[in-house]
Amino acid sequence: MAWWFGTKLWKRVFLGLVLGVAFGLVVTQSMGPEAGEALLVKVKVIGDIFIRLIRMIVVPLVFFTLVSGIYAMGEPKKLGTIGIKAFALYLLTTFFANLIGLAMGTIFQPGKGVDLGGAVPKQMGEAQPIGERLMGIIPENPFQALVEGDILAVIFFALLLGVGILMAGETGKAAGKFFEAVAEGVLKMTHIIMELAPFGVFALIAYVAGTQGVATFTAILSLTLAVYLGAALHMLIVYGGLIRIVLNLPFVDFFRGILDPMMVAYSTSSSSATLPVTIRAAEENLGISKSVAGSVLPLGATINMDGTSLYLGIVALFTAQVFGYTLEPQHYVLIALTCALVSIGTAGVPSASLFLLAIVLEVFDVTPEHTALVVGFIFPFDRLLDMMRTVTNVTGDVTVATAVAKWEGELDEEVFRARPLS
Ligand code: ASP
Repeated sequence: MAWWFGTKLWKRVFLGLVLGVAFGLVVTQSMGPEAGEALLVKVKVIGDIFIRLIRMIVVPLVFFTLVSGIYAMGEPKKLGTIGIKAFALYLLTTFFANLIGLAMGTIFQPGKGVDLGGAVPKQMGEAQPIGERLMGIIPENPFQALVEGDILAVIFFALLLGVGILMAGETGKAAGKFFEAVAEGVLKMTHIIMELAPFGVFALIAYVAGTQGVATFTAILSLTLAVYLGAALHMLIVYGGLIRIVLNLPFVDFFRGILDPMMVAYSTSSSSATLPVTIRAAEENLGISKSVAGSVLPLGATINMDGTSLYLGIVALFTAQVFGYTLEPQHYVLIALTCALVSIGTAGVPSASLFLLAIVLEVFDVTPEHTALVVGFIFPFDRLLDMMRTVTNVTGDVTVATAVAKWEGELDEEVFRARPLS
């Protein structure tokens, strides 16, 4: 017990990750796929409990942290500069993700020689028109948005409420303090929940490793390689370069500080479920101020998805290669633009983007039958790809938050350079 609690959390989570993979593989090998899956489904319950616990605090955390974050800024004007910088960087990093994705798809040619004959077509639902989505950001009833967990609408309302409280001056002080206090309390809840993380991660990964195993990895080897390598390059070169060269901050301290959210993102495949862990790591390990972490990260978890954009680009090229669609130079530009737009509209939940693939494929007139076949082909093992793109999405959010914090003088570099406490 003393050893367990004396060991840093990220090490325990990492142990859970490694043991989970081993356990999943051994169970399936020794008991056979069916009996193995039956056991792993039972084990997965611990993982589901973990996910539910962190999801439970996402809405209150976003709401209270955001309002208190705006309040902590002290003046509404600062919100504008933070917002513009964050948004510009979100777009810039997504642009690089697109470039890397398209390069990977061209170099690896993952669709070459792939036969989709055995794939079961998957029908896709209608995507919500973009105009409607944009309008939906303004909640008609903010309480309904909170209840339904409509994060963009919650963000919109919380931003305005924070500004309102600031404008109320002396009278608003008590409300500002109240939001600050609750935000602190909710953040502390993540400490409690994260004690379950090693077990949750173990259970989730064991299930994925046991049911998807090495066989699926190899069946779509080049697609998996293209996605994993592309995401790794993007994180190391674009995020690492931004941290090291542009911000002049130590690279190792950055990645060490965010190991927890990276591992939780990998095992849950959901950037929005990971959000509480991301906010905690940003504030406590990287020294990002409450006002920047509380505003930039929730927004990032909802609209900034570099891993998703990179992945969609690769899958678009994969589709063209499988069915022999010819792509002209302008198609590449359009694919990149559409991937970026779709990634903004993707929800931070497992496999969200795969079902929006049709929008990207429309760029080069892929038939609905072909789209359904590609989605049907990828869906069974999408989890493995999803885990990696979610890690990229979350890492991208923290990178942008770090940059904005540094430029706004809201980064405590001593905390950033220190080893994480827990
Ligand atoms: N699962 C991803 C995320 O939560 C979204 C996606 O499907 O690409 O970030």
